[in-house]
Amino acid sequence: MVELTALCRVRSGVCLVIGIVPVNQKLRSLPSVDRVLNAPELSGLIGQYGAQACKIAAQAELAQLREALQGGDADTEALVSAADFPEAIYAAVRRRVAAEFSASLKPVFNLSGTVVHTNLGRSALPEEAVHAMAMAADGACNLEYDLEAGHRGDRDHHLEATLCELTGAEAATVVNNNAAAVLLVLNTLAAGREVVISRGELVEIGGSFRMPEIMQSANCILREIGTTNRTHLRDYRGAINDKTALLMKVHTSNYEVRGFTNSVAGRDLSELARENGLPFVHDLGSGTLVDLVRYGLPHEPTVNEALAEGVDLVTFSGDKLLGGPQAGIIVGERELVDRVRRNPLKRALRVDKITIAALREVLNLYKDPQRLPSRLPLLADLTRSAAEILALGERLLKPVSEALGPAVEVALRECKSQIGSGALPLERLESTALQITPIASSGGKDAALQQLAGRMRELPRPVIGRIRDGSLLFDLRCLRDEERFLAQLREAM
Ligand SMILES: *Cc1c(COP(=O)(O)O)cnc(C)c1O
Repeated sequence: MVELTALCRVRSGVCLVIGIVPVNQKLRSLPSVDRVLNAPELSGLIGQYGAQACKIAAQAELAQLREALQGGDADTEALVSAADFPEAIYAAVRRRVAAEFSASLKPVFNLSGTVVHTNLGRSALPEEAVHAMAMAADGACNLEYDLEAGHRGDRDHHLEATLCELTGAEAATVVNNNAAAVLLVLNTLAAGREVVISRGELVEIGGSFRMPEIMQSANCILREIGTTNRTHLRDYRGAINDKTALLMKVHTSNYEVRGFTNSVAGRDLSELARENGLPFVHDLGSGTLVDLVRYGLPHEPTVNEALAEGVDLVTFSGDKLLGGPQAGIIVGERELVDRVRRNPLKRALRVDKITIAALREVLNLYKDPQRLPSRLPLLADLTRSAAEILALGERLLKPVSEALGPAVEVALRECKSQIGSGALPLERLESTALQITPIASSGGKDAALQQLAGRMRELPRPVIGRIRDGSLLFDLRCLRDEERFLAQLREAM
């Protein structure tokens, strides 16, 4: 088009091509940024979001139109020639600004079948914790201020006594997550020296947490012993020398070695550590404060059990089976916890007031284990009975089928939920899923399935399921707000 215009000019100075408006002229028909910003139609938008954001959006929108016109895009040409053209630009600028300011973190329905899903933010927090977080965020608070004495205090003070009460530990401190807890403990107790650990426990947790690499980051020398499947007490004993800083055990939280295996009991290791004057550290990973068996769930090692075996320091996550906010908790012997606290890295890894507020509320719920399943969302999800989930499925089957229309088939299907985040990797909980299957279309079944899953992710509150055997499965275990789920399906489909 550009060439054509130039050609006309060279020949006669007059463009004789009728019905085709030259590109330059179309570009000229685009308003200037200032004209867009001064349009009365956008004054409300500028009032709401500010002139700068609107200017950036207008510039981006006009640049995009210019580029499309230069590329000869037919839709854009039609848009620019339409009678309501400036209004179309204003609408596009409005959409751009609104998208720019919309929340990036959105609540979703986690119907993936994994209860503690790291990519979906792990645990939902109890109401009490949500209130406490808002309160802490709202203004100044006594985060590190001793109100009685009127001088500087310690942020651990808000959590330590409760953690000690619940775990039987002498002392406790809290950092950003369990990866940070492990890093901090290793760096404090073993920088430049050797850490003895069984080869079978050199775990990798999703998202690049690998024990050998953490050791390296903590400036420790990894002394791996035994074999992948079998490690004996004599292996630990043989590895101890004058460079040894500590003995370590890591809970193999996300896998299990089965068959001809041997690992050394915590009690024996703690005895060996004591004989040699070394600290013994156990990274529990998930760690729970109550025996889950009392709620009909599989057994996961508790922090109390680890301490009772004679472990000197235990590290565990705040947002795995504990059901709290992201945090890493270190409990154990006072002298060791004090050393951990004095490490300058602690300052870099510390938790903020909002996490402390939430964690305190979650820990308080553990003081009444009997009511815990009804008060802690994670435990409520994990203990939801198969019969209750089936009943929910039966209620949803017909309305969901109606909402989704004739292009899909909806059925109920038994399924198994997993706990997730590496906790109890082999255990599965009986559950029920809505099984949604596209009726074969011309584009192919696979494309239809992907499209269906994509549409579910575009809903105002995106619904995340999993694809299995040609269907989209919505595991109903973690569906709380059944009405909202249905209402948005009815509206959007
Ligand atoms: C999950 C896990 C970690 C990391 O914990 P985050 O809280 O996710 O940082 C460390 N060690 C073990 C054994 C784990 O299972």
